[in-house]
Formats: sequence, C-alpha cells, structure tokens
Amino acid sequence: MKRHDQCSICSKETDDGIHLLKLYICHACEKEMIDTPADNPRYDYFVKQMKKAHRSMIPS
Ligand SMILES: [Zn+2]
Repeated sequence: MKRHDQCSICSKETDDGIHLLKLYICHACEKEMIDTPADNPRYDYFVKQMKKAHRSMIPS
C-alpha cells in the first residue's frame, strides 16, 4: 500500500517532498522557500506554517 505524506506548508499529499526536522515539505514548497528571501512577508508564512505543524506533533 502506497502512502503519501502531507506537506506541512500547503497540506498537499505528495511523494516528491523532503523530510525536514520531522516535517514533510513538498517539492514545490521547498523550492519556493529556497527562492524566498527572509525579508519577504511570504517567508514569515512558511515559518509560521512550520511552527504550527511542528507544535501539533509534540504531545502536550
Ligand atoms: Zn507544499
């Protein structure tokens, strides 16, 4: 049975992504993150999504 992981940023299920610090990021988001400078507002969005995804993985 093939299982696709869900991207932590865009929630898309894909099998071409990468695992980064326990998070899964699809190829499209990975590429966009690399192309987005840290002073771009879009970068904050990525960081926020990653923090949110990471937090949901830690049992409270
Ligand atoms: Zn994605």
